Amino acid sequence: MPLRTPGEHSCNDCITAQEADSHTSLNLANYSPMVENLKEKLISQAQEVSRLRSELGGTDLEKLRDRLTVENERLRQELRRCEAELQGLRAQPAVAAAAAPCPGCEHSQESAQLRDKLSQLQLEVAENKGVLSELNLEVQQKTDRLAEVELRLKDCLAEKAQEEERLSRRLRDSHETIASLRAQSPPVKYVIKTVEVESPKTRQALSESQARNQHLQEQVAMQRQVLKEMEQQLQSSHQLTTQLRAQIAMYEAELERAHGQMLEEMQSLEEDKNRAIEEAFARAQVEMKAVHENLAGVRTNLLTLQPALRTLTNDYNGLKRQVRGFPLLLQEALRSVKAEIGQAIEEVNSNNQELLRKYRRELQLRKKCHNELVRLKGNIRVIARVRPVTKEDGEGPEATNAVTFDPDDDSIIHLLHKGKPVSFELDKVFSPWASQQDVFQEVQALVTSCIDGFNVCIFAYGQTGAGKTYTMEGTPENPGINQRALQLLFSEVQEKASDWEYNITVSAAEIYNEVLRDLLGKEPQEKLEIRLCPDGSGQLYVPGLTEFRVQSVDDINKVFEFGHTNRTTEFTNLNEHSSRSHALLIVTVRGTDCSTGLRTTGKLNLVDLAGSERVGKSGAEGSRLREAQHINKSLSALGDVIAALRSRQGHVPFRNSKLTYLLQDSLSGDSKTLMVVQVSPVEKNTSETLYSLKFAERVRSVELGPGARRTELGSWSSQEHLEWEPACQAPQPSARAHSAPGSGTTSRAGSIRRKLQPSGKSRPLPV
Ligand code: ADP
Ligand code: MG
Repeated sequence: MPLRTPGEHSCNDCITAQEADSHTSLNLANYSPMVENLKEKLISQAQEVSRLRSELGGTDLEKLRDRLTVENERLRQELRRCEAELQGLRAQPAVAAAAAPCPGCEHSQESAQLRDKLSQLQLEVAENKGVLSELNLEVQQKTDRLAEVELRLKDCLAEKAQEEERLSRRLRDSHETIASLRAQSPPVKYVIKTVEVESPKTRQALSESQARNQHLQEQVAMQRQVLKEMEQQLQSSHQLTTQLRAQIAMYEAELERAHGQMLEEMQSLEEDKNRAIEEAFARAQVEMKAVHENLAGVRTNLLTLQPALRTLTNDYNGLKRQVRGFPLLLQEALRSVKAEIGQAIEEVNSNNQELLRKYRRELQLRKKCHNELVRLKGNIRVIARVRPVTKEDGEGPEATNAVTFDPDDDSIIHLLHKGKPVSFELDKVFSPWASQQDVFQEVQALVTSCIDGFNVCIFAYGQTGAGKTYTMEGTPENPGINQRALQLLFSEVQEKASDWEYNITVSAAEIYNEVLRDLLGKEPQEKLEIRLCPDGSGQLYVPGLTEFRVQSVDDINKVFEFGHTNRTTEFTNLNEHSSRSHALLIVTVRGTDCSTGLRTTGKLNLVDLAGSERVGKSGAEGSRLREAQHINKSLSALGDVIAALRSRQGHVPFRNSKLTYLLQDSLSGDSKTLMVVQVSPVEKNTSETLYSLKFAERVRSVELGPGARRTELGSWSSQEHLEWEPACQAPQPSARAHSAPGSGTTSRAGSIRRKLQPSGKSRPLPV
């Protein structure tokens, strides 16, 4: 080989170096694609690993686990629900048994519902099973893929190891080549030098390769670590999967068991249901039989009803036809009915007229009969009323009862006087138990005769405390004759109101010490006089005596109240005074017959006489004596008048007392008199009782003339000649006089009662 200058050599060397370099660079150029290739492979493997990891890594498994957990939870809930339903189903047969017999349809509905539920549950179980098998399949697939990936990973790792092996071998070769190149001879020194000049580059590349190799190895180690971790995770996932599988198997077993229980329950329920259905069926059959029987009955009824319906329809059609003609018929019927009614009304009217005539005739007859009755009873009637024993009678032997009655004869009274029994016969005797109404019943006829124009006197006679005021006035709660008489007059007058016009007036007077006073006047102390009418009618009247027209019971009560007030204010000791004076209530009833113009006047004199007890001459003096004398005088005069009437004497001494003079009209002739002799039943009063009863008996035996009405059309009755005072004084007109004397003709001085007066003219008030 030629020696070359360094430059030349250099050139040669350079070529050699260039060659060597080109050789080295060739070697490196050969390595670098391999390294690149390896790098790429490593990257792709890493990507593959990460892909696999993302695909099969912990996240997927976790997801799977979560899904399984959720599924588990759902299954658990399902199981719980199944258990609850099972319990419900278990409880239901008992309820069903208790509620038996349940209606068939309800039971079957329930069992159908249960069946639906069961099928639902079975479906759900099947679904769950399907899901489970799907999940199992999925897990299986995942496990397979995992195994596959593991295999691939192993392959990759093996490949990588081979590659590494190859690379390290090449590296070793490279090192060896480098070492052999270094170990070449000095001529080669230059080359070596050159090589040495050039080797740092190679060395740098080598070191870079080594570093890269190192880095790759580190990465491989890391990947290995990661792979290991993944393997561990996979293992734990496997474990979890097995656990979950075991749980699923357990749940399945539980589900199977529940299903079995449910099936059993279902079976028992089915049996119950079948039994119930059978029972219901049997019942239904029985009912059906009954219904069939009913149906048969109804059918037969229907068959029988059909002809009836046909006849009814026929009737209905007939009626319809009739109804069509009904308005005409109705009109005709109405016309005829109207005509009939008109005729009937006419007939009724004529009948009414006839009846009215008959009624009037009957009325007249009744009056006649009534008068006849009164006449038969006697114009002077005497009754006794025994009052009950009161507290005021005291106690002891003096207060013992001395009066007895005949149980068979109510007109007999027995008195035990000084140990001797004395009997009296009167028109009637009222025992202490007789009521105010009982007594009034007896005087009722007299009161009504007053409406017919008769004068009536009712006296209460007896010693003080024997019950005179009680009988005449009574108490507000239990009124006596006075109020009852007026009430009766009102009702009678009202009854006759269609034919008669009546005017009832009331006066109240008192006679004390032979002085007449007006109890309804403004000045009750004023003395009143009894006078003859100036018209020459022979009638008496009291100028200034107040007359109140009364139209109702209220009016009467006001009059009584007013009279009482006058008496109370005038006398300090009213009780004492009232027993020493005669109290008179004079009721005048004036009537006019609307159709005939007939006028009647009747007077009802209700007299509460002064006490009849005799006052011992020695014991009394002064005013007391004077009082007693006056009372004796007036009561004797009353007795004398009645005695004269009885014995039909020509002279009747009416004028011997104010009382008899005032009542002259009402005592004489056709007048009617009732004397109620009041009797005290106690022992201490027996002598006075004896005296009173004797007086009563004497009065009773007197007979007045036959009854005749004081009417304008009345007839004369001259059976008796009564005393008449011809002296006629002119009347003294008083400012308070309510009744002015009228005109009239005196036909006979001796008679003051039977006057025929012209109708429509005013007449004086008779007193
Ligand atoms: P007179 O008026 O005769 O003096 P009274 O009428 O004042 O007697 O009666 C005296 C007492 O006896 C009164 O307390 C009265 O209430 C009572 N009395 C009288 N008669 C009866 C009777 N029939 N029933 C009940 N009490 C009577
Ligand atoms: Mg009295």
